Amino acid sequence: MSRPLRVAIVGAGPAGIYAADALLKSEAAADPGVSIDLFERMPAPFGLIRYGVAPDHPRIKGIITALHQVLDKPQIRLFGNVDYPTDISLDDLRAFYDAVIFSTGATADRELRIPGIELDGSYGAADFVSWYDGHPDVPRTWPLEAEKVAVLGVGNVALDVARVLAKTADELLPTEIPANVYDGLKANKALEVHVFGRRGPAQAKFSPMELRELDHSPNIEVIVDPEDIDYDEGSIATRRGNKQADMVAKTLENWAIRDAGDRPHKLFLHFFESPTEILGEDGKVVGLRTERTALDGTGNVKGTGEFKDWDVTAVYRAVGYLSDKLPKLPWDIETGTVPDEGGRVLQETGEHLQSTYVTGWIRRGPVGLIGHTKGDANETVANLLDDHANGRLQTPASPAPEAVDAFLTERDIRFTTWEGWYKLDAAEKALGEPQGRERVKIVEREDMLKASGA
Ligand SMILES: Cc1cc2nc3c(=O)[nH]c(=O)nc-3n(C[C@H](O)[C@H](O)[C@H](O)COP(=O)(O)OP(=O)(O)OC[C@H]3O[C@@H](n4cnc5c(N)ncnc54)[C@H](O)[C@@H]3O)c2cc1C
Repeated sequence: MSRPLRVAIVGAGPAGIYAADALLKSEAAADPGVSIDLFERMPAPFGLIRYGVAPDHPRIKGIITALHQVLDKPQIRLFGNVDYPTDISLDDLRAFYDAVIFSTGATADRELRIPGIELDGSYGAADFVSWYDGHPDVPRTWPLEAEKVAVLGVGNVALDVARVLAKTADELLPTEIPANVYDGLKANKALEVHVFGRRGPAQAKFSPMELRELDHSPNIEVIVDPEDIDYDEGSIATRRGNKQADMVAKTLENWAIRDAGDRPHKLFLHFFESPTEILGEDGKVVGLRTERTALDGTGNVKGTGEFKDWDVTAVYRAVGYLSDKLPKLPWDIETGTVPDEGGRVLQETGEHLQSTYVTGWIRRGPVGLIGHTKGDANETVANLLDDHANGRLQTPASPAPEAVDAFLTERDIRFTTWEGWYKLDAAEKALGEPQGRERVKIVEREDMLKASGA
């Protein structure tokens, strides 16, 4: 082939950007060359690093700097504010590219089927995260009236939500939170945050560092009940086989035996409490009912029939994220992912869908850290390049890069570009500067488009 290999990547989160990086580091990039277009529904790239990672995690947000170096490469173009399939369909992509990689991640909350979940005051963590991270498509205000709040789930997202609820607005002010979020948090009445896990300390999915960080706030008193420290044979095996799980359990043990301090906001980490119902009155949350559980020897738990009501008036479920189904692609309802084999999209017949690939959370499901998406992207790209080398890719009708610009312009799509990100980045930094902050996020989509020069 005398022209460069043309690849479209849909979704400019870490997985999509790592896939672009892997393509550019491949042999194909030298000859005949690779040319990549990233399509992103948000006006800005970086996916959940911008709209998921908590604002008080600047070190993680800093991964953006490394991803910048990838997007700075001349072989990559960014088309932001472009949604698949509304603005560009699979047929359109096939007309322009030899191959398409979908890396659309996950944005919604996984369901939790317990009575009362629909009550006013019962929220999904993903919605709250989107609010505090300044996502343009969620409301600008968030009700933070509850003095006692429950968070369901024992993963890192549950920790993020609990920490943001328990910190003061002024603790979060030096971060990039937008003005509407600061004002909202300023009115937060939460004094007690209760995090609930069905299983025990050995089964918690926290990262050790994120867990220890809870204790670093001068306003948060982390409390663990000694009664909640329990292990069976399965738990002991888990601790032996998994260093992270062992570190988490040790931290929790230390917290369970220390004397109570007097920091103003109490954050309770409860184990062996399975939420069975959100209690309501006049359509509003007035409590949470949990059933005490006990280990069964294997690290799993069973109900004891002993119930307890907690007088919380807001409940956040942090039980996992869920991907949106991608139109025109096969879908696995059970896992909420696109079925694949080594990143190649698999049809119901078991055959590969030609020239179509997946990577990141849309492929593996919503688990794992940013760094994990790198290996995943490498595997997908290796298989794409193998298909290319063996003549298995389709040939696009219009491979010229200009054809894409012309297509989007003709359709009146106000797309942002990589140069536009530099402008938006500068505008956000300028907003932060008078307050001595590194950045203040711009929230409104229209304002983002204007700042990006779209
Ligand atoms: C609340 C939260 C906090 C986290 N904190 C950390 C942390 O501190 N450290 C860490 O290492 N990991 C963290 N993670 C995990 C990390 O965010 C993921 O591992 C990673 O973002 C997954 O990458 P991805 O590219 O597959 O998906 P995403 O990051 O979700 O990127 C997908 C991109 O595709 C775009 N997109 C979606 N649909 C379409 C469409 N139809 N058309 C066009 N574009 C589309 C999205 O807008 C998005 O930009 C966190 C996750 C969550 C949910």
